[in-house]
Amino acid sequence: MTPTAPITQDVLTLPRKLPEGGLTNIVGLTRDQLRDALIAAGTPDKQAKMRLGQIWQWVYHWGVRDFAAMTNLAKDYRALLAHHFTIELPEVVSKQVSTDGTRKYLVRIAGGHEVEVVYIPETDRGTLCISSQVGCTLTCSFCHTGTQKLVRNLTAGEIVGQVMLARDDLDEWPVQGAPKIETRLISNIVLMGMGEPLYNFDNVRDAMKVVMDNEGIALGRRRITLSTSGVVPEIARTATEIGCLLAVSFHATTDAVRDQLVPINKRWNIATLLDALRDYPGLSNSERITFEYVMLDGVNDTKEDAHRLVELLRGIPAKVNLIPFNEWPGAPYKRSSGNRIHAFADIIYQAGYASPIRTPRGEDIMAACGQLKSATERARKSSRAIAAEAGLAHG
Ligand code: SAH
Ligand code: SF4
Repeated sequence: MTPTAPITQDVLTLPRKLPEGGLTNIVGLTRDQLRDALIAAGTPDKQAKMRLGQIWQWVYHWGVRDFAAMTNLAKDYRALLAHHFTIELPEVVSKQVSTDGTRKYLVRIAGGHEVEVVYIPETDRGTLCISSQVGCTLTCSFCHTGTQKLVRNLTAGEIVGQVMLARDDLDEWPVQGAPKIETRLISNIVLMGMGEPLYNFDNVRDAMKVVMDNEGIALGRRRITLSTSGVVPEIARTATEIGCLLAVSFHATTDAVRDQLVPINKRWNIATLLDALRDYPGLSNSERITFEYVMLDGVNDTKEDAHRLVELLRGIPAKVNLIPFNEWPGAPYKRSSGNRIHAFADIIYQAGYASPIRTPRGEDIMAACGQLKSATERARKSSRAIAAEAGLAHG
């Protein structure tokens, strides 16, 4: 890890895509933004609230993409909407389905950039892992996304769009007149795909507000977990402005090791991070913080590490999620052995903390945690590697 690893937020969010004709995409606008846009498009002030509610339901409850299908709106109003707005999702470039049922979507967003979205079905729930950035400015040494050079923030529309396109693929929009289906295919959302969500706070917040809204997709705040590498100044806002659950990529029990694994630690070290977590608004036993801990052979997986971790957690309602390292081509680490992982888990558990070992999912399609990287970046990298092998590399 180079000491110059970027740990600042210096990426842009491209403006919301303005499709041909300057139409505004409705997807990802907050209620206030959409109301203002409706008025600007000629909706009388007095009707704006009602129209907003109707359109919101069509888009986010029923999953409708065509204004013509919004049958409770007058025909000429539907035409006015079509004249000013679109309802657009990022484009699914490819879909892979793992032997274990995990689905990975490669999604293209404005500018031709790509992000990955992963759906993980389980017996009693289904989790959608969404991305907040193309790539990541942080360079955690065990993470494939962190090796991607290109970075840009996703817009709120591109974040909400990931949820909507997965619902499309799973055929999860309600059917009018059909009985309500109580079990949801996408019951949980984790912001654990590509990117550092707290470096794209406003867009992530606005997107999650849309996803949580009761008149639409209506996923409760406790069904959403945001994972951060430890952007300390933004941590409290996660509780106050989004209200979702928090996971922290902890991964080490000494600053020396964490500096290597999660370089943002050089900016906000373990003690500073733990102070922010102790102060997390609304922290309680029913809303514990998840400490993610990737198990790297010979790096952070000793019994001493486990005991130190227990000491560090004291006083924080927490659970520890142990993630067997997911290897990727060229990765500088190996996964800890099963015995090591279990011994580590036992120590944490004996100290009174839940310590589940995450089952790697979708490994055959490179969909597991930390393996996400856009296909174009992978292709670029491999052509570089080929050039290097042929002695053509310029460094
Ligand atoms: N940037 C955020 C969220 C995305 S990463 C963060 O770092 O928290 C989601 C989780 O996967 C993080 O805990 C991350 O540290 C972990 N991870 C990254 N690469 C991994 C790998 N190769 N194997 C296992 N977990 C990994
Ligand atoms: Fe970025 Fe998270 Fe990967 Fe670190 S682990 S490089 S913060 S995506």
